[in-house]
Amino acid sequence: MKTYPAEPYRIKVVEMPNMLTREERVEAIKAAGYNTFQLKSDDCYIDLLTDSGTNAMSDRQWAGLMIGDEAYAGSRNWLHLEATVKEYYGFKHVVPTHQGRGAENILSTLLCKPGTYVPGNMYFTTTRYHQEANGATFRDVIIDEAHDPSIDLPFKGNIDLNKLQALIDEVGAEKIPYVCLAVTVNLAGGQPVSMQNMREVKSLCAKYNIPIYSDCTRCVENAYFIKTREEGYANKTIKEILLEMFSYADGATMSGKKDGLVNIGGFLATNDDDVFTRARELVVVFEGMPSYGGMAGRDMEAFAIGIKEATRFEYIQHRVEQVAYLGDKLEAAGVPIVRPVGGHGVFLDARAFLPHLTQEQLPAQTLAAHLYIESGVRSMERGMVSAGRNKETGENHKPKLETVRLTIPRRVYTYAHMDVTADGIINLFKNRDKIPGLKFVYEPPMLRFFNARFEVC
Ligand SMILES: *Cc1c(COP(=O)(O)O)cnc(C)c1O
Repeated sequence: MKTYPAEPYRIKVVEMPNMLTREERVEAIKAAGYNTFQLKSDDCYIDLLTDSGTNAMSDRQWAGLMIGDEAYAGSRNWLHLEATVKEYYGFKHVVPTHQGRGAENILSTLLCKPGTYVPGNMYFTTTRYHQEANGATFRDVIIDEAHDPSIDLPFKGNIDLNKLQALIDEVGAEKIPYVCLAVTVNLAGGQPVSMQNMREVKSLCAKYNIPIYSDCTRCVENAYFIKTREEGYANKTIKEILLEMFSYADGATMSGKKDGLVNIGGFLATNDDDVFTRARELVVVFEGMPSYGGMAGRDMEAFAIGIKEATRFEYIQHRVEQVAYLGDKLEAAGVPIVRPVGGHGVFLDARAFLPHLTQEQLPAQTLAAHLYIESGVRSMERGMVSAGRNKETGENHKPKLETVRLTIPRRVYTYAHMDVTADGIINLFKNRDKIPGLKFVYEPPMLRFFNARFEVC
């Protein structure tokens, strides 16, 4: 039988969440219009809405807050953060930003122009927004298998080199300001990219002088998958793997809210002296001085410490295996999930879970609402509601995948919490034919999933 590593932490401070009764939860989700985004955090016992900014900091990080140097310029915590990024990620220059999208904004403003194309291994919402806001067109070059939830592959986030070559042939290398290579791929469910793929992408791009910028938001999770799945890496440290990964990139954008083990923060890194000079000019306008970029000194200290802690093998092993534990438990009970389980969460296949509902009856939205009622666990719809409508025809986009995302915050929950989550889902699965669908009663025109309201249909 597979075993899972025990928590590599001891608990020094505890947070006491409210534990509502079932009746109270029924009222709470009704008041929220059956939308988990509209629930109060205080009404959720286990909050799996996102792994972004929900990390638990260590005692050393909290101690780091106390040595925050809040000077406007030249803060010692910035120097610490800068040195840490250089040491652990290997880039030449670093520009701090308030979070990941701040770095994306600066990079896209500098490199994307109307008529250019940015290839990427699946899009991420804010990344793509900034590329397109600056006139570029995003092109998905991830392998086809990434779009199929039933295919189990060790490195389902890889770039398809033929797709990348085809784009270069079609538009010309001079129209491609950079390749955006995400590790791991969030929207594919946290799927990793192999070292071999990164090496091959680098050699293809080098032929045409196209830079590679990594979205390194979940790079430590990716490094763990390389260590445990790719030949030749079992005896390398996470730090060694990170340095090799980034030796195939020219820069990176980072959201510290994920693998930085902090609640806020980010940076842009680059090896290009010219990009660095111009990024330092721009950061002043959007974020702040190049020695804080929208972060407090104390936040930069915690971020520097978080980057180091995240590379400890026991930490990342437990993090990824805890997510796998939840997935394995659900799978053993016959609950339909997206395979393979990625680095940061488990995705339920809502159409297979609620086969009696049509897609118009919003199976993923329904499942997320009922999971909350069943167990006080908050999850997120990623299906037709999130996909929105076609701008021209007004028709609903009908994504192939209707998923409910259970994203696990880092160092926050124990295996017992995963058991409660799994038991709630398994219980619901046994009684699933009684669950009625939902319909919109309020539909906002943009990003409707955040504020939409529903009722039982
Ligand atoms: C969260 C995220 C971002 C954006 O980072 P923020 O800190 O939320 O601005 C970019 N890319 C990926 C893959 C992410 O998950």
